Amino acid sequence: MLKAMSEAEVLFQELSSYLKPEDVIQLESAYHFSKAAHHGQFRKSGDPFIVHPVQVTKILADWHLDPQALTAAMLHDVMEDTTVTKTDISSIFGKPVAELVDGVSKLDQIEFQTKEEAQAENFRKMLLAMARDVRVILIKLADRLHNMRTLDVLLPEKRRRIARETMDIYAPIANRLGLNRIYQELQDLSFRHLYPVRYRVLSKAVKTARGHRREVVGKILGAVKQRLRDAGIEAQVTGREKHLFSIYRKMSEKHLTFSEVQDIYGFRIIVNDVPACYWALGTLHGLYKPIPGKFKDYIAIPKSNGYQSLHTTLFGPYGTPIEVQVRTLDMHKIAEAGVAAHWLYKTADTDFRDLHKKTHQWLQSLLEMLSQSGDSAEFLEHLKVDLFPGEVYVFTPKGKILALPKGATAVDFAYAVHTDIGNRCVAAKINYELVPLRTELKNGDRVEIITASHAKPNPAWLNYVVTTKARSQIRHFLKTMQYEESASLGERLLTQALAVLKAKPDDIDETQWDKMLKDSGAKSRQEIFADIGLGKRLSVVVARKLLALEKSSAAELKAPGPVTILGTEGMAVQFAKCCRPIPGDPIIGFIKKDQGLVIHTHDCPAIRKSKGDPDKWLDVSWDPNISRPFEVCIKLVAANQRGVLAKLAAEIANAGSNIENISMDGEGAYTTVHFTLQVSNRLHLAQVMRNLRRIPEVVRITRAKG
Ligand code: MN
Repeated sequence: MLKAMSEAEVLFQELSSYLKPEDVIQLESAYHFSKAAHHGQFRKSGDPFIVHPVQVTKILADWHLDPQALTAAMLHDVMEDTTVTKTDISSIFGKPVAELVDGVSKLDQIEFQTKEEAQAENFRKMLLAMARDVRVILIKLADRLHNMRTLDVLLPEKRRRIARETMDIYAPIANRLGLNRIYQELQDLSFRHLYPVRYRVLSKAVKTARGHRREVVGKILGAVKQRLRDAGIEAQVTGREKHLFSIYRKMSEKHLTFSEVQDIYGFRIIVNDVPACYWALGTLHGLYKPIPGKFKDYIAIPKSNGYQSLHTTLFGPYGTPIEVQVRTLDMHKIAEAGVAAHWLYKTADTDFRDLHKKTHQWLQSLLEMLSQSGDSAEFLEHLKVDLFPGEVYVFTPKGKILALPKGATAVDFAYAVHTDIGNRCVAAKINYELVPLRTELKNGDRVEIITASHAKPNPAWLNYVVTTKARSQIRHFLKTMQYEESASLGERLLTQALAVLKAKPDDIDETQWDKMLKDSGAKSRQEIFADIGLGKRLSVVVARKLLALEKSSAAELKAPGPVTILGTEGMAVQFAKCCRPIPGDPIIGFIKKDQGLVIHTHDCPAIRKSKGDPDKWLDVSWDPNISRPFEVCIKLVAANQRGVLAKLAAEIANAGSNIENISMDGEGAYTTVHFTLQVSNRLHLAQVMRNLRRIPEVVRITRAKG
């Protein structure tokens, strides 16, 4: 009890240094309220519970958070652990405080099936909370930090679970918000509880090395300071130590030994203004030679969490690399406190509102994605890209710089510029050279996107885009397009089903449609059409309902006429991959639920096996005017002679066909070649095969189905 009192006293002393007296009084009353509410509760350590909220508030006071947030921190566990309600808090401390406490409490509530899901769900809650008020997350982070600092008293199993969660969720969020010191402490604490032995060995090694390094570090420090002074640059120079987990990660990711990681000296130089940063950099490059390729200008191009500095690595006097960061004091404040700099330095003349605004924009973009992806695992996947950014910086043709996550492709770039550019892109030029859209971008690339007004997103893009924006926009577009195409197919299927019943679409009046919509629960005719096209409703059933016919109508016994395949249905009609039908082939359609109409050839081995529900088979025929190319597979056996492949390719080209894919197998005298070709129809294919048979080396040639 005594201990708690003194800790609280320390806190209030600190608060009086930057809060108004009436705010300190409110916090004191929050303290007494919380203490009374938690009365009789104890931490696992045996301390009275109130110690915890006091410490959490203290962490936030170090960031100079506002009185509302501090009051909420003092009360953050009362709703969860005591009988106090949100209304109670609201009536005593005001609505904003109650909202904050409620936000923090809500973060801890849902239960999950799987670990992945739990993680994704936690992220969702965090993001929602952050988007509403970033202070909720700051309180939660302070809460977690104090719990991590006092984790020792828990059982090892529980310790590991909490440490894992901290490593996976809280540390990345702290990093994204730029709360660098918290980020590093959370990582080191997690590391300690996840891998206690490795932690111990490494921290001992660091201590020993520190002793050995002291002399060298001192010499370099002296040389650097002297050189800057000679150049007339006012600067604070400090040695910098990596935190333990970053040493560990470097060792394991880059397969380095401890001494290889440790034999890098780190210095930080803080100067008065931006020009002085570059001046200091130039001066240092004159003192020790820079290592090529290591220089990074995060002043011109800040990291997405707002971080700014110049980074360079120098060849040190003893052949050891020296990593240097050069920044201004304001940049330093943001580097250490991130979004919290907004509160921490509010009274200073510097304005950190821009960072605060950017953080808010980032949160909004995540929320947008959240509302579009239903699947938590998928959501988590995207989020990982956003929270663990390795970034590339590229240029638009107008010289604007865009930051994209590592692995981003030309398509990601197109969507980053504008959704319309993404949706209509057909090709890309990188550094003036035409490249495929899937090309991965590199730092400094100049990227130009070529668009076409008729172009549409390709589902295959989803296999390689990495940004959330591109992914969600492509999905959105495809969904809309599939819906429209399915609706138009469904309308045709319905017309055909009506024709069998000797009716035309115009015969059906408003009242019949209204009844249909009411009975089916669909919102519009369009939805009924789309359902038919997607195989969710059968056209014959809908037709009968619309005409109000009894089930056993005589007309129904008549065989329906075929549905014509135009080849332009897009995603509503798929051509089966097993038999790859081409115009001219006898075909049959199968309505697959949620996918629409799948077309097979009559002799496809796949359909012989599964006759299934006869209602779902449709008689279909080709429109005679189809002009688009179709893919077809042929299998060819040829004598294994030099140059035979070139002859095959030449004949295929002569017949006006394109080769999409080739694979070969077999050794010795004969080779089997599998071609995927583009042809316009059966006649065209016959022509291609005739041409190929003329080659003397060709022994056998067949069309491959199934
Ligand atoms: Mn707590």
